Amino acid sequence: MNGATPPYGYRMVKLADDRGNQKGKLEIDESEAEVVRKIFKLYLDGYGYRALAAKLASEEVSKRNGRPFCGKSVENIIVNDVYTGMLRFRGVSFEDAHPAIIPKNLFNEVVRTREARNPDRMPGREQSSPMLFSGLLFCESCGQKLTHERTFKPTRTYTYYSCSSFKGKQISCPSRLRFDAEKLDRFLLDKITDRILTDKNIENIILGLMKLRAELLNQNRSQSLRLHRELMGVKKKVENLVNAVAEGVLPKEIVQDKLKKLREDEERLELELSQGRVIAFPKINVTGQFIEGFREICKNVMFSGDEKKRKTFLKNMIKKIDLTKTTCKVCYDLSRFLVSHTESSSLRDNLVVPTGVEPVLPT
Ligand SMILES: [Zn+2]
Repeated sequence: MNGATPPYGYRMVKLADDRGNQKGKLEIDESEAEVVRKIFKLYLDGYGYRALAAKLASEEVSKRNGRPFCGKSVENIIVNDVYTGMLRFRGVSFEDAHPAIIPKNLFNEVVRTREARNPDRMPGREQSSPMLFSGLLFCESCGQKLTHERTFKPTRTYTYYSCSSFKGKQISCPSRLRFDAEKLDRFLLDKITDRILTDKNIENIILGLMKLRAELLNQNRSQSLRLHRELMGVKKKVENLVNAVAEGVLPKEIVQDKLKKLREDEERLELELSQGRVIAFPKINVTGQFIEGFREICKNVMFSGDEKKRKTFLKNMIKKIDLTKTTCKVCYDLSRFLVSHTESSSLRDNLVVPTGVEPVLPT
């Protein structure tokens, strides 16, 4: 925090610690803090960023530099958890590092409100279609990627996937595809469950995982490399914190707990390294029950996970989907289930990976 401009609502005070080192600490600036509290309150009352900026301007409230607040500067305040007492420093975060202006529960309420208001930018909403297959859908006739569009109506938002030709972008395509996004998403999810997450495919994934496990057990080396890298990372963090305290950048009492935790990690990693211990996933027997459980986990992510998780999951598994008005071909590759467990390409090459194309007929 040395030399940095303190966030609006705070000022920096210099304190000398018990060794006489100067250190900076955030202290509440009451008149600015009042504005911060007002911004959070009005946001919850239904004001958007720009409306809020306009309201502040009408009350002649301005930023520290005397300029009026704009939508962006209001947003920067609304999203900043520094106001709950959180301090982030060189990749480490500290709770209650300084006095909070906004209580945590109020801040969380604002986060939820933001999610509800900005469905495009925030994960995890339900009210309009998440367009799960964006970027994966292609028009079979012209080869163009289907793009998504939203149509805003007073009661709800309609979402579509459509071939670029539909919007007349100088591409002549006989198909002019346009699908209701929500319906197509649901249809594809069902078909993927039925046709791709089959017993046979899941069995192959699990057998692949077991093969991987066996090789991992033989490859202590990559494991120790990882442990070593992790250990170096922890050592670096410890060093950073110790330096920060020495330079008077961070107060010692804030750092102490974090440092203790990091030192414990350090010890654990050193022990694991010296023992050459391998942390591998457990041995699995491929039973019908296990296959069913595996499919359930996949379905949970696909149908009800948060939006980002759902999209990542699908992107990892589906390479592309070719559509016509009446047919679709789902091109898939389930190797990610396996490679996510290893960074080694030699392992990857030895695996038999379930891949294929599933022709399905849209209803
Ligand atoms: Zn087309």
